[in-house]
Amino acid sequence: MEKKTDLKNLTLEELTDFVRSMGEKKFRAAQIFRKMYAGADSFDDMKELPAAFREKLKEAAALSMVEMKQRQISSDGTRKYLFAIAGGEAVETVFMQYHYGGTVCVSCQAGCRMGCAFCASGINGLTRNLTAGEIVDQILHVQKDAGERISHVVFMGTGEPFDNYEEVSKALRLLHEPKGFGLGARHITVSTCGLVRGMERFARDFPQTGLAVSLHAPSDEIRRQLMPVAKSVSMKELLEASRRYTETTHRRITFEYALIDGVNDRPEHAEMLASRLKGMLCHVNLIPLNTVEEKQYRSARREQAEAFARILEDKGVQVTIRRSLGPDIQAACGQLRLADANRP
Ligand code: SAH
Repeated sequence: MEKKTDLKNLTLEELTDFVRSMGEKKFRAAQIFRKMYAGADSFDDMKELPAAFREKLKEAAALSMVEMKQRQISSDGTRKYLFAIAGGEAVETVFMQYHYGGTVCVSCQAGCRMGCAFCASGINGLTRNLTAGEIVDQILHVQKDAGERISHVVFMGTGEPFDNYEEVSKALRLLHEPKGFGLGARHITVSTCGLVRGMERFARDFPQTGLAVSLHAPSDEIRRQLMPVAKSVSMKELLEASRRYTETTHRRITFEYALIDGVNDRPEHAEMLASRLKGMLCHVNLIPLNTVEEKQYRSARREQAEAFARILEDKGVQVTIRRSLGPDIQAACGQLRLADANRP
């Protein structure tokens, strides 16, 4: 049997070509597109399509390529989902409720090859890149399940977005499409461990979309202990790329900094960080480390985090301490992992 075309993978233009190749009129594509982004699960939900065309579509096309296998709900309302994807793998996705609206944290790869020492996502390496359709579909499934309009999307799940640039950028365009999901660029943030070429492309391609950079250290020495990527990109290069980003886009950049007990959480680390970020259009998001069973690192204590934040503030660097959501269901930052689709 021939492989079915995943319609969620298609832009409106591509869907139009596909519909035409089936001998149908252009406006049918817009109808399908609208229904798909309104959450239709089957072609039979698309009553405006002629019955014969619906039957043809069932043969040739698929509406969804991810399947919800499991859902856990945290005591704080955060939801973690396990989605099976083609090939027997599964990825995790998180839904969070913020005062500004429902937010989805999507995965863009099954596993990750960045190998950060404190993160669960890279423990088994990279299995494969997700397609744009698989990325977008996580959001549509979550929106339906949570029963709430998703107003923000963060690319902070499993995977490194700039290691899968093509599919991630296609997913961004699909999410922005006014005739589809219609999410404003400013409602989306992409997080990178610091692939500078990707950052440069991103600044050109998506100047309105938010960028976060996982910094996690005040010096190359500490960063190299924690993040293999720091062996090929120095902090100087990374901060220069970040500065160029803010200059081209006029947008503030976010630096994520996981506070790890005894490793990067001392006052002298805060001083060093502040002096490196001085004068930059940036914001530091401190994340008390979330525990990952296989890793030996521990979180900084609350007082330590507050002292760290105070030093940055005193030096004029904007800072917040991120609230941990969903730690009881392993849904917090760095706790998402490549999972087995057949997990009970
Ligand atoms: N690969 C991208 C996207 C992942 S975003 C990136 O590195 O930015 C997930 C964020 O959580 C990153 O900042 C990551 O470094 C951070 N993180 C990873 N493990 C963590 C942990 N155990 N506790 C807190 N934050 C963690």
